[in-house]
Amino acid sequence: MKPAVFDYVRAESVAHAAEVLAGAGGDGKVIAGGQSLMPMMNFRLVKPSVLVDINAIAGLDRVELVGSRIRVGALVRHFMTARDPLIAQRAPVVTAAMKHVAHLTVRNRGTFCGSVCHADPAAEMPMMTVMLDGEIHAVSTRGKRMIPINEFFAGSLVTSLEPDEVVTAIDLATMPPNMGFGFHEFARRHGDYALAAVAVLMRRENGRPRDVRIAVMGLGEMPSRIPTAETVIEGNELSDLTIARAVESLRAAVSPNTDLHASADYRRHLAGALAKRAIGDAWLRAREAEPA
Ligand SMILES: Cc1cc2nc3c(=O)[nH]c(=O)nc-3n(C[C@H](O)[C@H](O)[C@H](O)COP(=O)(O)OP(=O)(O)OC[C@H]3O[C@@H](n4cnc5c(N)ncnc54)[C@H](O)[C@@H]3O)c2cc1C
Repeated sequence: MKPAVFDYVRAESVAHAAEVLAGAGGDGKVIAGGQSLMPMMNFRLVKPSVLVDINAIAGLDRVELVGSRIRVGALVRHFMTARDPLIAQRAPVVTAAMKHVAHLTVRNRGTFCGSVCHADPAAEMPMMTVMLDGEIHAVSTRGKRMIPINEFFAGSLVTSLEPDEVVTAIDLATMPPNMGFGFHEFARRHGDYALAAVAVLMRRENGRPRDVRIAVMGLGEMPSRIPTAETVIEGNELSDLTIARAVESLRAAVSPNTDLHASADYRRHLAGALAKRAIGDAWLRAREAEPA
């Protein structure tokens, strides 16, 4: 299909983009990479009256360290995120997750921030933003605001972003050097959307796991942390029994869907298998990185 008729504006600045969105009366859409928006428009699932293209705005294509956080600009593409040395050093779990994202053409155009704004529950970048306490920087003609990630996702493809707001960047927490990580996902073909994925972070202190974080995607309406599974591991000896109990809590906490690709039961089973591997990898890396 072809999209419904729309106007197109190439924004010259963030203020210009915000003005055009404000003038669209809630009916405008930002286009960044277009890798999700264009298919949605072609299927007429969305019919914006105006597209605001942010690709010509200078300065939005940077990854930088701001204080202790990594700032990912709104025009940072997937391939840039995957190769960025700062991300590889300070948030290597993101680099690991990016290896699984899509195919070459999508990676060349799609943006980290666009993926988070699109809010697909089976996408890697929203999950990483949940895992690393992301903060979304939004601008409108009413001013700037920062949205903590726990107030951002409201459901599958639904966020708390107002229709007149443009996202300029997303900040992510950096990981301490002794933080181990694990990331495992399963997709039917490499580069396809995953059926499920699990990411784990932990440090090792006096032989015990600390600061444990476990996040999942593809297992509910939005990516989420699983505090019940984190608590099972936090501060306890990481025996096979502890891992089995954490896996059980994770399986109990997720609410996967049945669809064309897999049943809810299969996804729940998969979640446990992926969690076991991710916990194992995170612990191994944490042991290797533990200060002497
Ligand atoms: C074949 C295929 C396979 C894919 N596989 C994967 C995969 O394995 N993993 C994965 O994570 N993703 C996958 N994707 C999705 C891809 O990563 C998209 O690029 C991403 O979801 C959206 O980023 P974008 O920059 O293209 O956003 P766009 O398509 O331009 O926009 C998406 C939405 O976000 C909004 N938006 C974008 N930028 C902003 C902004 N700065 N401010 C406010 N709103 C904004 C738009 O208005 C729109 O609603 C796949 C896509 C395709 C087509």
